[in-house]
Amino acid sequence: MATAVFFHAHPDDESLSTAGTMALLAEAGHRVVLVVATRGEEGEVVPGVLADGEALGDRRTTELHTAADLLGTARVEFLGYRDSGMADSPTNNNPDCFWQADVDRAADRLGAILSNEQPDLLVVYDRNGGYGHPDHIQVHRVGTRWAAAAGVGTVRWVTLNRDAIRETIESAIASGAADGLAGIGEDLEERRRRAEEGSFGSAAADITHAVAVGPFLDRKRAAIATHASQIPADSFFLSIPAEQFARAFGTEWFIDPESPRRPGAPFRTDLLAH
Ligand SMILES: [Zn+2]
Repeated sequence: MATAVFFHAHPDDESLSTAGTMALLAEAGHRVVLVVATRGEEGEVVPGVLADGEALGDRRTTELHTAADLLGTARVEFLGYRDSGMADSPTNNNPDCFWQADVDRAADRLGAILSNEQPDLLVVYDRNGGYGHPDHIQVHRVGTRWAAAAGVGTVRWVTLNRDAIRETIESAIASGAADGLAGIGEDLEERRRRAEEGSFGSAAADITHAVAVGPFLDRKRAAIATHASQIPADSFFLSIPAEQFARAFGTEWFIDPESPRRPGAPFRTDLLAH
């Protein structure tokens, strides 16, 4: 049995990006630990979800615990920083926000939380935090710093496969499958544009691991749905047909920073293997 630590920036990131892998590892008997840097206080809230006076960070904490339970997570911890908000927003300057944190000090905090664990695997984001969010970039920096200091043998960077995303979007647009989903057309165009300019995720050639999470897709979607303050029921994630959801989210992509994949070699599938 291994211990796998997933380090995320905000409640919902775990469900959107690594839910299938977390569920798969938990189901295989491994200990899955989730550490989240912030409570997502700066998230854009779905109208009508919060009760009068309810703080978004509190709601998102509850949502995270519900999602983590669904995924078989053994332990959930918060690193205790404040959400920095989107890139270039004034909240990036809040002295309590994660973006302003000293990397060494934050890495020490992570180490203190994990002092009773013996992690075999640490999962963080890629260098650009997947899509450039300051808290995601900071997760990469802090997690990487701690792993090096603590001697964690296996570090993997979760990423988006921008080539696969571009293909999925192009086929959805071409087949008309994107029609009828409110507001999705523009969103897909934006994603396609960003995939083309390379400003999010990674090229397939730079990705080492493809983890197929098909058997856990129902749980992944249910985990995404628990984040109702962020992800409305009529969103792309929750409203596309199961078949398209499987195509878009049935594989989770990772990079082994120590060992690139040779051109033409198949993707590796076992995150824990060296
Ligand atoms: Zn996030």
